Amino acid sequence: MKFDRRTLLIGLGATAALGRAGRGQATAPAAARKTYDVVVAGAGCFGTWIAWHLRRAGRSVLLLDAYGPANARASSGGESRVIRMSYGPDEIYTRLSWRSLGMWKELFARVGRAELFQRTGVLWMALADTQSAKDSLAVLEKVGVPHETLPGRELAKRFPQLRVEPGGWAIWEPESGALLARRAVAAVAADAVAAGVEMKRAVALAPEGSGKLSSLRLTNGETVSAAAYVYACGPWLGRVVPAALSFIVQRCARPLGRLELTLREPLAIAIQFVLSQYCMTL
Ligand SMILES: Cc1cc2nc3c(=O)[nH]c(=O)nc-3n(C[C@H](O)[C@H](O)[C@H](O)COP(=O)(O)OP(=O)(O)OC[C@H]3O[C@@H](n4cnc5c(N)ncnc54)[C@H](O)[C@@H]3O)c2cc1C
Repeated sequence: MKFDRRTLLIGLGATAALGRAGRGQATAPAAARKTYDVVVAGAGCFGTWIAWHLRRAGRSVLLLDAYGPANARASSGGESRVIRMSYGPDEIYTRLSWRSLGMWKELFARVGRAELFQRTGVLWMALADTQSAKDSLAVLEKVGVPHETLPGRELAKRFPQLRVEPGGWAIWEPESGALLARRAVAAVAADAVAAGVEMKRAVALAPEGSGKLSSLRLTNGETVSAAAYVYACGPWLGRVVPAALSFIVQRCARPLGRLELTLREPLAIAIQFVLSQYCMTL
């Protein structure tokens, strides 16, 4: 399949290949094929939040996963993931992370699962001349993320279990901590389903042909169609949509300087790219 300006790419984790223009248009009679505004393939951290946001925006959404949300094979499937705010000079990551934390907490509070975020605090240790830590401090200050600078003596006093190098110091982020990843993603999926997202355990086959994608075939023999398709297949993406991966690497490697997608990003990436582009496109 061909990728052009209208194709949405979400870093290494997700790709949206736009299908037919016009909401909910079917490519075959309704009786033969189910139609949605968006089909999201992959219910990891990215796919579930994308489906959640799309549903919230009033779209009809089918969320597929080969093994279920945040399964044991998925990157999002572990017990915990750190959510932190210090990213050196990369202000965009700090902003994404800070915004994501608020949204995770909001969801957990609403569904009565506040324990899915453990506010442990995060300690970022540095040597006297560690530039990235100095850059982090400047960004935390600018973005307004609560933090403390701990000089060596204070660091040793508060954390006596640590050996502090001469000149060593640290940044303490009191609001950061650990997301209970597998359960957190499952909670997003459950909330999305409660809001009307259709969830199906099925494997999406690679898109066929070239040009606009008109439907998606599943290994169970079903075919689904939608106005837009989001491939949020995580590490499987290269296998499912090989062309997308090379496109992403070409596009993202230079401006970002690295490829990194983490649990802090789905919200902002989904909102800023998928939803805005999707809403503009339909
Ligand atoms: C060991 C480890 C530690 C990490 N630590 C941190 C951390 O501390 N903090 C942090 O922010 N990030 C961390 N990360 C990164 C973070 O976990 C990942 O970036 C994030 O989980 C990626 O989510 P995803 O939705 O893109 O992919 P995944 O969670 O892998 O989801 C992809 C989903 O797609 C499904 N799928 C694939 N192909 C198909 C198909 N053809 N049809 C249907 N479904 C399909 C899979 O079953 C899977 O559920 C860590 C990652 C790992 C592996």
